[in-house]
Amino acid sequence: MNVESIRKQFPILHQEVNGKHLIYFDNAATTQKPLVVINAIKQYYETDNANIHRGIHTLAERATAAFEATRYAVQKFINAKEHAEIIFTKGTTDGINLVAQSFSKAFIKAGDEIIISGMEHHSNIVPWQMVCEEKGAILKVIPVTDEGELDIVAYDKLLSSKTKLVACVYVSNSLGTINPIKQIIEQAHIVGAKVLVDGAQAASHLDIDVQELDADFFVFSAHKVYGPTGVGVLYGKRDLLDAMPPYQCGGEMIKEVTFEKTTYNELPYKFEAGTPNIADVIAFKYAIDFVNEIGKEEIRDYENELLNYFVVGANCIRPMVEKGLTLNGEFNSPIRLYGTAKEKVAVQSFVINGMHHFDAGMMLDAKGIAVRTGHHCTQPLMKRFGIEGTIRASFAIYNTKQEIDVFVEAINRLVN
Ligand code: PMP
Repeated sequence: MNVESIRKQFPILHQEVNGKHLIYFDNAATTQKPLVVINAIKQYYETDNANIHRGIHTLAERATAAFEATRYAVQKFINAKEHAEIIFTKGTTDGINLVAQSFSKAFIKAGDEIIISGMEHHSNIVPWQMVCEEKGAILKVIPVTDEGELDIVAYDKLLSSKTKLVACVYVSNSLGTINPIKQIIEQAHIVGAKVLVDGAQAASHLDIDVQELDADFFVFSAHKVYGPTGVGVLYGKRDLLDAMPPYQCGGEMIKEVTFEKTTYNELPYKFEAGTPNIADVIAFKYAIDFVNEIGKEEIRDYENELLNYFVVGANCIRPMVEKGLTLNGEFNSPIRLYGTAKEKVAVQSFVINGMHHFDAGMMLDAKGIAVRTGHHCTQPLMKRFGIEGTIRASFAIYNTKQEIDVFVEAINRLVN
């Protein structure tokens, strides 16, 4: 893997921010886009723009073919059985809301139980709270350990014949923890519950095989996998999607409309009402090709190398007294890491003792370093650790050890 040649494909990285070279470590929020993706959007509007599925003219056929080509690329990317099981959404949030609304209409009744985990993003909490309110169902939460792992023994105890759905994050956006999702799915299936996997942070780092995982639903966003914003994927098993009612209604999702009765279109169109985000869906295929070309294993190995390099660097930072001596020569780390699970992706949350994360984030920005600060849309998880928020560095394929050296030195200056 040649990082320099990869970096050349990301024009945004080659700029100065506040007079310093940009160092972009906010990849868990959104990744930057390679030229192939940017060019695909431009090219689409310059040569192929037309509405899809309806027209028989050449541009409409070209646009439809390119749009559907992405569906096949996604099918392969996550190893779904059929391309009809791939539904394009606006993103992870949209996919979860679709399942929450539609699945609950078909399958949830008063007294049923839905299990989520203590490290969910708000987008995988609030939709289920609304379902529970509407249906009189009960929400249960898998606890999180001090290391930032899920307590799987406690999870097993939460499961029962009342459990209808488990909605769980594969990789935590705040902690980087990779949850044992296959085991979580297996245990849920034993009691007859279905499982929705929030794959927002998993899709760019891990090989995804929805059949091997036996996931019932799997959602992710293109913009976290080097693709455009405004595009997401909902994978669902055909039998479930077939049994669920449409989420939104309008054009595309119908077979026949009369004022007396409407019949719905087949999968996946039943869940794709209205004109979709055609250009960005088409460009998403280029992002998938980009990732496939490098290879997930290469990506993960390299990113883990960056993560370990950062953790070692951060752990070496010591507070200094005025004369430059360490305090009593003792180890007294001013950096506290959150998320120290054995299985992790290259996401590291931390706090600097005595400094608010927002102040740290602003001072790092002044040095051209972009990190995320705050609760990362996981307020209950922050509460679990007794903090308001963290500084989060998340690394991607185009980051380098030299950037981490600059970052660690910047934190060192903040500390001292
Ligand atoms: N779940 C997780 C784990 C996430 O990291 C995010 C994005 N931060 C989301 C859900 C929501 O994704 P989106 O905003 O793209 O819908």
